[in-house]
Amino acid sequence: MANDDSTDHDSYEDHIETRAIHAGQAPDGETGALMTPIHANSTYVQDSPGKDRGYEYSRTGNPTRTDLEANLASLESGAHGRAFSSGMGSINTVLNLLEAGDHVVAGDDVYGGTHRLFTQVYEDYDLDFDFVDTTDHDAVAAAMRPDTELLWLETPTNPLMRVVDIAALADLAHDHDALCAVDNTFATPYLQRPLEDGADIVSHSLTKYLGGHSDVVGGALVVDDDDLDERIGFYQNSVGATPGPFESFLVLRGTKTLPVRMDRHCENTRALATWLDDHPDVSEVYYPGLGSHPQHDLAARQMDDFGGMLSFELDGSLEEASTVVESTEVFTLAESLGGVESLIEQPAAMTHAAIPREERLEAGLTDGLIRVSVGIEHLDDQRRDLDRAIDAALD
Ligand SMILES: *Cc1c(COP(=O)(O)O)cnc(C)c1O
Repeated sequence: MANDDSTDHDSYEDHIETRAIHAGQAPDGETGALMTPIHANSTYVQDSPGKDRGYEYSRTGNPTRTDLEANLASLESGAHGRAFSSGMGSINTVLNLLEAGDHVVAGDDVYGGTHRLFTQVYEDYDLDFDFVDTTDHDAVAAAMRPDTELLWLETPTNPLMRVVDIAALADLAHDHDALCAVDNTFATPYLQRPLEDGADIVSHSLTKYLGGHSDVVGGALVVDDDDLDERIGFYQNSVGATPGPFESFLVLRGTKTLPVRMDRHCENTRALATWLDDHPDVSEVYYPGLGSHPQHDLAARQMDDFGGMLSFELDGSLEEASTVVESTEVFTLAESLGGVESLIEQPAAMTHAAIPREERLEAGLTDGLIRVSVGIEHLDDQRRDLDRAIDAALD
């Protein structure tokens, strides 16, 4: 069977590098195909009415997607994975678990699309949201109410790379009988596994590091609890935001190299952060690996490394920061993150432009802020590129 359960293999259970390649991906039982085939197929033969061979219709289940879901569950140390057609599709499914009148506490710097879904879609369905600084335990505790059913966390956050204490906040959520969900897109399971820290649900945009090659959009949820998985599976099938077999295949292709890619992302980012920290034209570097980062100790405890994202503040105007992001050659001017290629963007003019300027400045998102997704090109080329672009902008 292609859908061999990875947890049967004690021999490689301990090593994520091996599970990334093999979990959920035994060679095809019928053909011996080494790689999971792309099962481009909508419906499945039944041997008698109601008696299928494990699959009946591809929205409900598809063998390529099953292998991906098993692979992702293994990476996140969870029992069950569910794949979606986008990260927003997975986040939407978490909200499907709630009922009108329920209260949700979320971080005040969650992904913009998450904020939009919560406030512009689900407030109309009578869900009630409070957005708080989730690095401040007391602020989160104060926001929890008897009707709070979900605590939604993201760590590290975007673009200021704040780090949130998953274990402490999962405990807090459980004290209030609420679910704790963590968007683990930035860290990936190679660096941080929220279920091991006590979270109930892990959410991913597979579009980023897990796909890893900027060629696919996808999402996933991973949980440990059987009943919770059954409820998520009900909404996955009922709402229908499921990925096709080709997208599932592309993400499976990506997860095999996640550990080696992340090692290089982390190594390059660490070197660039240290170099930018000493740069005379840079006033601030946001990267949890720096000793000066306000949650550095927590990041060192909670994460296995500090990730491939950093932001820095140019000692200059919005226009000068624009010139930097327009002048790079190795770093491509684009939104998104997590691919093998380096990307650069200016939050004030791009990803966070929808936030009114006053509010944006108050949140620390200054005009001169620049965010980079550090790719896996040669470090010397990345450093030279940024150096030249900063010089071009400020001279
Ligand atoms: C991109 C992203 C999402 C949304 O995922 P899509 O695949 O674009 O729908 C959610 N959370 C975070 C942290 C992201 O970076």
